[in-house]
Amino acid sequence: MESARETSSSDSRVFHFMPKPTKGLKCPHCKEVRFKKDFPPKTSVSESTQLATEWCKPCKKEYQRTYAAKRRADPRWKDSQKESSRVNTITKYGLIPAEYDEISAIQGGVCAGCGRKPNPDRHLDIDHIHQSGEKKRRPYERLPMVRGLLCHLCNRVLGILHDNPQTLKNLANYLENPPARPVVLKALETMAEYLRNPPAQQVLEVRKD
Ligand SMILES: [Zn+2]
Ligand SMILES: [Zn+2]
Repeated sequence: MESARETSSSDSRVFHFMPKPTKGLKCPHCKEVRFKKDFPPKTSVSESTQLATEWCKPCKKEYQRTYAAKRRADPRWKDSQKESSRVNTITKYGLIPAEYDEISAIQGGVCAGCGRKPNPDRHLDIDHIHQSGEKKRRPYERLPMVRGLLCHLCNRVLGILHDNPQTLKNLANYLENPPARPVVLKALETMAEYLRNPPAQQVLEVRKD
């Protein structure tokens, strides 16, 4: 009895200095039972990194330092990342990749604005009508707002001009018929007249007479 009490009291002292959770989570990698706070918060991630999210924070850190760094250096992994980010963007607008490709085919694979092909490592932006609280919207709420595909620059131009078709029409007309042209032509004529018949020459001619 006496010895048992001693053991238990010494055990509790050890427990006091080195807290070990009685109810915790077991890391499937290092098999340690840890507090919940020692595990990274659960996030939705791709299947390839699913394993690491179940792990405790120290294991995950170690994993990211070694394996993930090695994987990141692999060009095949880079390609797959690019593809998954493309698919992410497409599904964000309630579309599937085949439907994105269909829109792209309708546009002849080029930006609907400037008619340029995107760089090989880039894709055309999904242009859409802007809504309030857009970031919180769900894909099915964004889907009806999709207008087409634009290059990044053309997409930005539309944003800068607040998607105003009249401004764009005015600007197209402005480029074809610059309003300053008649004034500039008149000014050029005056300048040419001046050069043909400089005032200094007139003075000289008057003196000669
Ligand atoms: Zn672990
Ligand atoms: Zn463009």
